[in-house]
Amino acid sequence: MKKLILGIAVLFLIVYGIFEFIERLDAVENNESGVKYDQQLNQDQPDQPGQPDEPKKPEMLTITPDQAFKGNLLLINRKYPVPDNAELPEIVNLFKRKDLLKGFGILDNSIELPLDMVDKFSNMVQAAKKDGVTHFLISSGYRDNEKQQELYETLEKGVANPPGHSEHNLGLSMDIGSSLGMMKDAPEGKWLEQNAWKYGFILRFPEDKKDITGVMYEPWHFRYVGLPHSAIMQKHDFVLEQYLDYLKEKKEITETIDGQTYSIAYYRVSDQNIEVPLHQKYELSGDNVDGVIMTSWDTELKDAPVDGTKTGTKEGDAQ
Ligand SMILES: [Zn+2]
Repeated sequence: MKKLILGIAVLFLIVYGIFEFIERLDAVENNESGVKYDQQLNQDQPDQPGQPDEPKKPEMLTITPDQAFKGNLLLINRKYPVPDNAELPEIVNLFKRKDLLKGFGILDNSIELPLDMVDKFSNMVQAAKKDGVTHFLISSGYRDNEKQQELYETLEKGVANPPGHSEHNLGLSMDIGSSLGMMKDAPEGKWLEQNAWKYGFILRFPEDKKDITGVMYEPWHFRYVGLPHSAIMQKHDFVLEQYLDYLKEKKEITETIDGQTYSIAYYRVSDQNIEVPLHQKYELSGDNVDGVIMTSWDTELKDAPVDGTKTGTKEGDAQ
């Protein structure tokens, strides 16, 4: 009997011992996982609200000083000549390319224009046609120095700029007439004055800006600057001189045109390369002095600044 009791007691002790051992094991495991949890918390600390990740550095684009002398926003006037070695786009003679004369005529067989400008102009003319305005006539397009010299010598003083100081020398401007009469009275002139900005063109020498441009009112002379610039200039009633001064002063502006938001930043290049944040979609233009304007936009709505946003579809990739 004693043996039996002793046996039960030993068995009980063994069973108790095993339970106790398992319980301690559990406690140790729990404690360990507790430590792990704390470590995790500590590791996660930098991601807690109020401690954001280090901001990603934007990709940078290097702008070289020569970029101050290329692009659609170049300021050409009596003070700032056409830059040396200016890059010219492909120029076509419109008399030889009658296939390009869509909805407009030419004054004579010498009219030349950059090929992409013909496209931009046609786009605008198609929109005018919808408003019943159809008598456009190009009277001057691209002019080389020789042609400009000829004009300078022939015309009254103050009417033509000296060679090397005309936007026509870069193919950025055209003189547009009407077969119905003088542009200041003709429907073509009135339509352009009100609507050209929608297609990237500006009336370069308005009647009330002679003090700033130094040039008398020219209801026929239209300059291409591209969107969104033409729309912003229209909104603020700026000529190119004023617009560039405004950008230099503001350094960066944001404008929404026809549902698309643009950021326009001015960078002074001086004589050094500079690094600027690289945006997904952008275009650059110099100011022909010492600055570069970067126009950037998001890509959710459109791929590019579109000339003639209301009617044009072909212009999206043309800039
Ligand atoms: Zn002109």
